[in-house]
Amino acid sequence: MLHDPFDGLFDSEDPDASGLIAGATAERWMQTVGWGRRADLYTYSQPLAGPPGARADVGGREVVSASSYDYLGLASHPDVISAAADAVQRFGVGTGGVRLLTGTCDLHRELEATLAAHYSQGAALAFSSGYLANVAVLAALLGPDDVAVLDARCHRSIVDGCRLARVPVRLWRHNDVEHLDRVLSEAAPEARKTLVVTEGVFSMDGDLGPLAEIVETAERHGAYVMVDEAHALGAVGARGEGSWGALGVDPSRVHLWTGSLSKGLGASGGFVACGADVGAFLQHGAAPFFFSQALAPASTAAALASLGVMQREPERHAALRRNADLLREGVQAAGFDVGASASPIVPVVVGDDEAAYRLARDLWEHGVWATAVVFPAVARGAARLRLCATALHTPEDIDAICAALAACAPVPA
Ligand code: PMP
Repeated sequence: MLHDPFDGLFDSEDPDASGLIAGATAERWMQTVGWGRRADLYTYSQPLAGPPGARADVGGREVVSASSYDYLGLASHPDVISAAADAVQRFGVGTGGVRLLTGTCDLHRELEATLAAHYSQGAALAFSSGYLANVAVLAALLGPDDVAVLDARCHRSIVDGCRLARVPVRLWRHNDVEHLDRVLSEAAPEARKTLVVTEGVFSMDGDLGPLAEIVETAERHGAYVMVDEAHALGAVGARGEGSWGALGVDPSRVHLWTGSLSKGLGASGGFVACGADVGAFLQHGAAPFFFSQALAPASTAAALASLGVMQREPERHAALRRNADLLREGVQAAGFDVGASASPIVPVVVGDDEAAYRLARDLWEHGVWATAVVFPAVARGAARLRLCATALHTPEDIDAICAALAACAPVPA
């Protein structure tokens, strides 16, 4: 009998909750991925022979890349590459220590100061991934006497952070502020602190939350707010500021901004931006800061350089927006409902897992590389392809993706 890792941890019966949160068993998960393991349907983990881009060289075959989250194309930007190469020359490839001990270099400080300023916060800390940043922050700040109030579609890293914190979790229906209000009214009044957690751009639907209303609601209940900007930074906002820029929210009203350096910034790593006192606490309270390696100098320099390019090259944001609009229109024209997507992420929801694997395989045969996302990354019955527009796509690339989709897609139910 396999152990159920979620057993008893979440007490919400919210039908909108992803399978991940609502209680997946390892057994069921294995049955699900069983479909994808059939050799003829398995398209995961294809090795790239070059950088991500609009077109990818995969095993000697050029395909149009339709699911990369290198939104601005910065992973292959010459300034970003040379900043990373310079950092390797100057600092070597590793830091020789964890951040708290001997692993901090001036690049870390500079990146953290830039991120803190970006979010109007007193401090920021860099981690070696966005996943780790969420886990580190939640596990350090929350405990059994607190309550975490999560949007039902929050990412696995947020769920895992809560699990590690052993904090009671309440779910609110995706982006439903009235429900959030109700959940906060009912959440244990004796809780030491209540943290509302949401995402700037939801990773599987590409929609943004009503951030201003979420913040107001939390303020009314005396709750703290954390926003995960993993898919928002670089991807939305006139200059890629993220959700606060796109939605016109003062970033200082959010207590904890977390995110990834691997998507809009094209590098790798993660971060939290927060108040100075919380930052000082996290340096000593967030275990990955002293039990796990520092963000590599090359990644730190790359992220910093990307933040500069984001400011200097507005044409990238314009191209990204144009391509995201074209992609959304093309997916709709192929007969799919793109939901509330308002970012470069455009979901193609097909329903069951096998249908998603088949569609990914058929697109692959048409020269389009789009990845299937199934339970537990999304709710059961909501399997999809997650398509992503990038600034590097040409309108012809987007046309090619949409034409292949129209040719391969089953008529949606
Ligand atoms: N949060 C969200 C919402 C994500 O989608 C992801 C990445 N898939 C992460 C955090 C983790 O970021 P990273 O890949 O840098 O670990």
